[in-house]
Amino acid sequence: MAAPPSYRIHANTAAELIHYRSYDKPVAGGGTEQCWTRVSTADEEWNIASAGGQKFLIRFDKNFSKKHLATFSKKDWVTEKEKWLQSQQPGQRTDEENWNRAQKQLLENKILRILGARNPLCVCGHFQKASDPAQVATTGHSNSGNCKHAGCVCGGFAAAPSAYVAARTAAAKPDVNPLLGMPTNQSSCIVLNWIPRNEFEAAVAASILAVDPANALPDSAPFPYTHATPFIHLRWSFPGRPGAVRHAQNGNVDVDNGTYVDLGTYKSTAALPGGVTAIWTVAHWSGQG
Ligand SMILES: [Zn+2]
Ligand SMILES: [Zn+2]
Repeated sequence: MAAPPSYRIHANTAAELIHYRSYDKPVAGGGTEQCWTRVSTADEEWNIASAGGQKFLIRFDKNFSKKHLATFSKKDWVTEKEKWLQSQQPGQRTDEENWNRAQKQLLENKILRILGARNPLCVCGHFQKASDPAQVATTGHSNSGNCKHAGCVCGGFAAAPSAYVAARTAAAKPDVNPLLGMPTNQSSCIVLNWIPRNEFEAAVAASILAVDPANALPDSAPFPYTHATPFIHLRWSFPGRPGAVRHAQNGNVDVDNGTYVDLGTYKSTAALPGGVTAIWTVAHWSGQG
């Protein structure tokens, strides 16, 4: 289903496009509480209509939704708490400014948590990939698995228990690791709340019309596709929304004013639902993790 009504801070933004499902979270003292979590990436899909009347079904692959589609905190009370902390910082600000700072701070925390979960720790205590790109020779694990840290005798990467997975397992979330995938030391995201929904949908449709205006491109993959190439590249561009695209590396959100993303996608016209021109599956964020 679409976002539950309590997630009202998503209203009229692209964050409305994300679908959620309920799950029963165990609570202290027994019993459960109904909570909401994203549907898995494989189940997320969007209907996007183009200006010229084409209708596209957008799907996602390889945990793309959780890795790359970020939203502000769904929990108003968490944002309220952070807003209070922001209000204690030096300087005079309006309530609204403190609220905006709180959303941004929580978002950055989330982006860095995602980055951390995408670079697993080894049982030797070191990350699989060097977190600092300038330190690849002396940190992280080599492709053959040997740990590169001076003095570490670890001969092969073996994942340590993940706090991220443990927390999701304890909460009885249906998908305990929606970030599972190739390890990476950089992570990029689109901040859906930053972009009005109609503007976002227009950008997605325009990206397809830019490469395939008359729906003449052949399918780039069988359906269901079974291989990784060839991609068709789409650019989703939000020129009036600096900050809609962010990138994090080495413990920092180092780009917080991006306005576009280049994506590797597949086109398929097999097994189309009624009224749909083509299915476009987003698999890859080009050039970055
Ligand atoms: Zn090590
Ligand atoms: Zn190791």
